[in-house]
Amino acid sequence: MNFFITGGAGSIGSYLAEYLVGRGDSVTVYDNFSSGRRSFIKDLTGESNFSLVKGDLLDRAELEKSLRGHETVFHLAANPDIRGSLTKPELDFEQGTVATFNLLQAMKKTGVKKVVFASSSVVFGLPGVIPTPEDYGPLRPLSLYGASKLACEGLISAWTHCFGFRSWIFRFANVASPRLTHGILFDFTRKLRRDPRKLEVLGDGRQNKSYLWVGDCVEGMVFGLEHSPGNAEIFNLGTRDRMKVAEIARLFLKASGSSAEIVYAGGRQGWPGDVPKMLLDVAKMERLGWRAKYSSREAVEKALGVKQAVGA
Ligand code: NAD
Repeated sequence: MNFFITGGAGSIGSYLAEYLVGRGDSVTVYDNFSSGRRSFIKDLTGESNFSLVKGDLLDRAELEKSLRGHETVFHLAANPDIRGSLTKPELDFEQGTVATFNLLQAMKKTGVKKVVFASSSVVFGLPGVIPTPEDYGPLRPLSLYGASKLACEGLISAWTHCFGFRSWIFRFANVASPRLTHGILFDFTRKLRRDPRKLEVLGDGRQNKSYLWVGDCVEGMVFGLEHSPGNAEIFNLGTRDRMKVAEIARLFLKASGSSAEIVYAGGRQGWPGDVPKMLLDVAKMERLGWRAKYSSREAVEKALGVKQAVGA
């Protein structure tokens, strides 16, 4: 198979690239390195079935040129910082919605018709049903990031129906990866480095969410792609359990060998737009024949065990 991965130098995309290259598929990573790192894909450079394009999804000419000849796109590039749009409201619109529109246009022009999209549990907003199934609605995201993910899902659905595309949308739980450039473990690492005596936790620590090991995320996406027809498919990708932020803070301090005091900033949400409780219903993936190997706690422990924070 011949894959094009947008955001393939990122925290999840680099694991996906490794997995596909490792099993002999041809992979092109297309990334502007805004949050991705060359170090994450350094072991792949030199492999005959791997190529790298430093390119931006907002550069339509470069995108079209680089995409030509590929068979399937994994679209993972996006702004990863959910809080970023509080100070820069155009961020997710440009890096999520416009970037996805550009990709779909480029696919249409070059005749590439299969797209796998990294969506998120945040499209559900504050759902009335937990665990939340794929067909829960109405979808009312709380953040601009979530709004953009939902808009991208809509665009992909329309392209599938109007232009004969095949599409697989995966709504991830929180993904735990040792390649940290954002998210809770990155935030903790940075804070503890700044002040080793205390660890400030956003919210009241009772936020309770599901965490998926990055390897499970990658294998789940590929399994879903290869075992379902791709007629505008939507799958939740997560674990059956969840864990509280306070427990993550304790695990983090233990793994860091720190006796810092945990200080809670307070409030039900960590920040405006945060979804404090999240657990996805994963029965649809299970019916297809796939389930995550690791629980939320194991996923976080694995990410902490081999932590290689970048620029923290
Ligand atoms: P990441 O920031 O590590 O990866 C995103 C990659 O996209 C980076 O390498 C970045 O350089 C690249 N990129 C961003 N804008 C680009 C552009 N305009 N052109 C080209 N490249 C660009 O984030 P991640 O955690 O690996 O997330 C991957 C995808 O999964 C994202 O779409 C994210 O929204 C989604 N997702 C992640 C999580 C999670 O917990 N990490 C949860 C749900 C969904």
